Amino acid sequence: MSVLDFLQRRRSEKALEDLLSAYPQLIAPGLKNPRRQEVLSRASRTDLVFYFPKRVVVVEIKRGLAGVAALRQLERYLREHRGRGFKVEGILLAHRFNPACLEARKASHWNLSCKCLDRDVPVNIVICANCREPRDRRVERCSHDGSTEVLNLHP
Ligand SMILES: [Zn+2]
Repeated sequence: MSVLDFLQRRRSEKALEDLLSAYPQLIAPGLKNPRRQEVLSRASRTDLVFYFPKRVVVVEIKRGLAGVAALRQLERYLREHRGRGFKVEGILLAHRFNPACLEARKASHWNLSCKCLDRDVPVNIVICANCREPRDRRVERCSHDGSTEVLNLHP
């Protein structure tokens, strides 16, 4: 990978993280106020962590294809959080998952889900001008109020 490719990749991973940090409800209903955690072992990775009174949801974002390694890494984070007395849940986000990764998820005894970016979790979004909720750009009407008006984010 060239330096330019690397920087490009870093930028787009950062953009994804920024987007999902600002609108975590796109990942799953009820998620809000994420904490962003730098992971020391892999400088290129930032996770979103959601704390509830007795539960913690750890979200791992992977641009492109996710393999077993990404799933194992998420399991390691869950193990750390469970050690502190939380009920833990992991969500792995990627554009695609290889078959081994999906098999490993099924076989895992952790509460894990794999969600596809741009399919299960919209990342190309518009913001409803009426209620300010985000939705997939391909969805014409807001599911909350039926509005078709969207905010112009890039005037
Ligand atoms: Zn709306």
